[in-house]
Amino acid sequence: YDSPRTPLMVGNWKLNLDHLQAIDLVQKLAWTLKDAEHDYDLTEVVVAPTFTSLRSVQTLVDGDKLPIKYASQDVSSHASGAYTGEVSAEQLAKLGVSFAIIGHSERREYHNETDELVNAKILAALGQGITPILCVGEPLEVRQASEHVAYTLAQLDGALAGLSPEQVGGIVVAYEPVWAIGTGEVATPDDAQEMAQAIRARVAETVDADVAAGLRILYGGSVKADNVKEIMAGADVDGALVGGASLKVDQFAPIAGFR
Ligand code: PGA
Repeated sequence: YDSPRTPLMVGNWKLNLDHLQAIDLVQKLAWTLKDAEHDYDLTEVVVAPTFTSLRSVQTLVDGDKLPIKYASQDVSSHASGAYTGEVSAEQLAKLGVSFAIIGHSERREYHNETDELVNAKILAALGQGITPILCVGEPLEVRQASEHVAYTLAQLDGALAGLSPEQVGGIVVAYEPVWAIGTGEVATPDDAQEMAQAIRARVAETVDADVAAGLRILYGGSVKADNVKEIMAGADVDGALVGGASLKVDQFAPIAGFR
């Protein structure tokens, strides 16, 4: 890995683990990384538990001063009020949440999230000092029709609409081809690099060249301990958003330990 951008490894736990299991996993992960003399200045490590586990994870991380950050898997676009079931960026910021995954393909697919809503959620997170991890990526039919770059860049444009260069400088983008999520079918390193490069070029063109150069772009979709190195070899790939493998210490520790 040869880049001025600090690699970022994010474990997306999805709908798994209760708060006791969450504490257990964070603790084991921290110990394993400490034993491996992990340097957190060289790779930033983040876990994304369910909302119900965030408070427990915060208590553990603060109490033991663990150098692991935590993310929410979603955030409301609303600040407060009559929005049953929603959790605001302000509430998450109070819990020390540093990142929020926004626009994951599972939310787009099962909860009908549109680019407009994703855009509003990004603004809500940024407004509270939370770094959005914006997820984009094409379904299988689009890849088969070779329209994946245009499709993914359209999602990117929609998500970033109206944002200032400074605001775009405060986000992370994760390219997650839908066909590679949870399927065991990882994109090739060339596929990941092709899209990461296209995303960076688009931000350079539509936002700002310096912002584009500093933007961290992750790959997600069936990342495992044994394929992370080849994925990270892409010059524009700065980290990974990891689902299934982030639930196992023996998988996620080597991924997080990557440098
Ligand atoms: P996966 O999920 O690693 O299990 O494929 C990635 C994601 O959805 O973020």
